[in-house]
Amino acid sequence: MEYGGLIYLDNAATTYPKPPEVYGETVKAMLNYGGNPGRGAHSLSLAAAKKIYECRESAAALFGISDPERVIFTLNTTYGLNTVIKGMLKSGDHVLISDMEHNAVYRPIYKMADQGQITYDIFHSYPHETKDRTKRICSDIVQKLRRNTRLVICNHTSNICSLKMPIKEIAELCKRSGVRLLVDGAQSAGHEKIRVDEMGIDALCVPGHKGLYGIQGSGMVILGRGIKLSTLVEGGNGVNSLEGKMPDFTPERYEAGTLPTPAVSGLCEGIKFVKAVGEERIAEREKELFRQTRERLGNIEGVKIYLPQHEGSVLLFNVEGFSAEEIGERLNREGICVRSGHHCSALGHRTLGTADSGGVRVSFGVFNNNEDIEELAAAVNKTVKER
Ligand code: PMP
Repeated sequence: MEYGGLIYLDNAATTYPKPPEVYGETVKAMLNYGGNPGRGAHSLSLAAAKKIYECRESAAALFGISDPERVIFTLNTTYGLNTVIKGMLKSGDHVLISDMEHNAVYRPIYKMADQGQITYDIFHSYPHETKDRTKRICSDIVQKLRRNTRLVICNHTSNICSLKMPIKEIAELCKRSGVRLLVDGAQSAGHEKIRVDEMGIDALCVPGHKGLYGIQGSGMVILGRGIKLSTLVEGGNGVNSLEGKMPDFTPERYEAGTLPTPAVSGLCEGIKFVKAVGEERIAEREKELFRQTRERLGNIEGVKIYLPQHEGSVLLFNVEGFSAEEIGERLNREGICVRSGHHCSALGHRTLGTADSGGVRVSFGVFNNNEDIEELAAAVNKTVKER
């Protein structure tokens, strides 16, 4: 869809546009229930709190957990990941992370290790393996587990290509080994089904502003049953106000300070939108767009597509004779928004062998159509011919 004269193919960074009802509800929140949720018994505060609870319930249903109290609102995925990582790990712990992680996982782990608090190892995602990939990933994790491993962290879908991790199998193996599993769902929430309890995930971190079509400033942690974390941030939330200690119960234990009611209200509509369209239909549509892009770009001389066999919402490519940044700039001049470079994933680009070059990332959303892909291919073609 052409929006504001531009073709937007950077939905992995944040989806754009949002469904009209998301904008509508965000504005309505500011105009009609602008009180501070949970901070008073007056009608504007109660209305805000009610809306926030409605969003908690919708998110709980979407992610398959029985109690909405296990939905914690955060600013974005990064804040959620930091909340879980720093709240779960103790001095002397060992952690396993995948070789496709985003800096939102890698940097907090790196810092804690650098300060001598924890140690970590990286397990392989075997992106080029066609046979027995799941088995190889699991056996690599098993080999790298240590007596003091507390946590395994991996993303569900990569943000530089559409590679997925076998979450259910990794979760089973973690349960058997008495290790917790944290899943970064930044690129899968809203794109495919995630059922936290059924899949055995101990904590899932998701953005509100990507595949759930909320606005920026929204994100969530979905906690597994019985998971209790040490707090990352302490402060007021209108509960147990006479005590110095943060409450023991969720979600208040992890939600210090004023929640962004407008963002949460918008997210509530975004979740309704995803439910109405259906995650399976969204995934199928994105795969169709992926296949079309793969075919059109694949026909252009000098274009290299990475992991073309892994179909999904993200496609990474480079063009011989051009830097990724150059392609990004030229596409921008043609009114096409993509993201070039390293996409905050040093680990992922090292794994794909693109650490030196980076890549051009095209990422789809529900508002993209086949014409967008034709325009993208025409623009890449034009660039190549001008070489
Ligand atoms: N993890 C992954 C896999 C991502 O793609 C992103 C966003 N690019 C993040 C984490 C960070 O998300 P946010 O911007 O919502 O903090």
